[in-house]
Amino acid sequence: MARSYVREARRRVGPKRARIGPIVERLATEHPDAVIALSFRSEVELLVSVMLSAQTTDVMVNRVTTGLFQKYRRPEDYLAVPLEELERDVRPTGTYRQKAKNIRGAMRMLVEEHDGSVPIRIEELVRLPGVGRKTANVVAAERGATQGIVVDTHVRRLSQRLGLTREDDPAKIEQDLQRIVRKADWARFPHLLIWHGRRICGARSPHCEDCVLADLCPSSRV
Ligand code: SF4
Repeated sequence: MARSYVREARRRVGPKRARIGPIVERLATEHPDAVIALSFRSEVELLVSVMLSAQTTDVMVNRVTTGLFQKYRRPEDYLAVPLEELERDVRPTGTYRQKAKNIRGAMRMLVEEHDGSVPIRIEELVRLPGVGRKTANVVAAERGATQGIVVDTHVRRLSQRLGLTREDDPAKIEQDLQRIVRKADWARFPHLLIWHGRRICGARSPHCEDCVLADLCPSSRV
């Protein structure tokens, strides 16, 4: 019963390849301000901000980095203080011991292997301690070197609800999205889904009645 309902809903909205163009365009109109919400002024600050953003809000990260980036300006600065001091400085972002350890490890690798600068290739970024594919994709895209599609919790949820993937694993979801989203849209697409997820299609209560994608979405409740 439930399965035939899903099949019927998918038939109603049509194939994803035909829907993806209108989905991107409508979201771009709806969320013209959909850009990264983290504050940073350099590639090192970008990397640290994204590393701190795991399991917390961008608002909290920005609150912490306002002071943090006054104190730590270059990768060497993160290595010049005791680990406990860095832990204290990032503590409000949660899981602070792991984050401080990873940031120190990443900064050490920047100094020792990259002349203090942040690499641009995904394969090199993911070698940095604590940097997974999602973080690497964000850092590369924000520097104009998009090589993949960022899949965070919002992108995963909305891609599934919109019938763009049946996968649950972020790496497989990214592959599904790469097959249908135009490469020129790889950078902005996740931001559009993230902002739509925050404003309209929340995890617990999607506001389908206010959603510009309702007629394109197999999960629509209206
Ligand atoms: S129609 Fe509903 S479930 Fe589908 S994207 Fe919009 S808010 Fe989310």
